[in-house]
Amino acid sequence: MLSIDRLHVTYGGAVQALRGVSMEVPDGQVVAVLGSNGAGKSTLLRAISGTLRLHRGTIDSGSLRFDGTDLGSRDPATTVRMGLVQVPEGRRIFGRLTVEENLRAGGMGSKDKAAKARAQDRVYDLFPVLRERSAQRGALLSGGEQQMLAIGRALMASPKLLLLDEPSLGLAPRIIGQIGEVIAEINRQGTSVLLVEQNATMALGVADLAYVLEVGQVSLSGDAQELSRTDEVQRLYLGHG
Ligand code: ATP
Repeated sequence: MLSIDRLHVTYGGAVQALRGVSMEVPDGQVVAVLGSNGAGKSTLLRAISGTLRLHRGTIDSGSLRFDGTDLGSRDPATTVRMGLVQVPEGRRIFGRLTVEENLRAGGMGSKDKAAKARAQDRVYDLFPVLRERSAQRGALLSGGEQQMLAIGRALMASPKLLLLDEPSLGLAPRIIGQIGEVIAEINRQGTSVLLVEQNATMALGVADLAYVLEVGQVSLSGDAQELSRTDEVQRLYLGHG
C-alpha cells in the first residue's frame, strides 16, 4: 500500500536526515518504525504526509508511492484526501475547542455527512471517555485523553493509512498500554497503521513488521516478534542487558 524506495532527504540543502531509506507498509498491517533521537523518524513521516517543505526539507532522490500513486510532490491536503492521515507528535489538539469540535475539525476535508457521522460513532466507541467529555474543552483533558482525541480527530478523515508520531510520548505506562490496545483495534477494523515510536515495547507488541532507523538508514527490519528477540533490539531498544 505504501512503498518507499531509496529515499534521500536533506534540510536546508545541508543536513542529510534520510540516506536511502526503503520501506513497505502492506495493506492491513501495523508497521513500527523504531529509532533513537535524531534517527530520522519525524523526517520520514514528514516526507510521507507532504509536510517536509514546511520544515525546509527536500526529497533529493528516491520515491514514495501510495496505492501505486507517486506521493513525492503532493501537498498535505491531497495526501489526506488520498487516505493518508497523520497524528502529529505532541498531540496538538485545539485546547479552546470542545472535544466534539476537535473531532469535527478532523472531518472538515469531507462533505459526506453520513460518513462523518459514522466516523464519529467509531471514535466514540473506541474512546468512550471522549463521548463522556464531548462538551468539554480539549485543554481540560489529561495527557492520555488528549492523545486519544488526537487519534480520534485523525480517524474522522477515514484514513486508509494512519500515521502515528510517538503516541506514547510523556504518558504513564498504563495509558501507553491502552493506546497500544486501541491501535490494535483500529487495525482490526481495517485501517493500516505506520507507528513511529521510541517505546519499543509497545510498538513491537502491536506491530506486524518493524524497521529500525539509525542515523537516516534502516539498520534492521522484519517480523516484529522476531526483531524483538534479536540481541540488538533487546539491548538498545528494550533495555535488556
Ligand atoms: P526525534 O525522536 O528526536 O524527533 P527523529 O528520529 O524524529 O528524532 P528527525 O527529527 O527526523 O529525527 O531528525 C533527523 C535529522 O534531521 C537530525 O539530525 C535532525 O537534527 C535533523 N533535522 C530535523 N528537522 C530539521 C530541520 N527542520 N532543519 C534542519 N535539520 C533538521
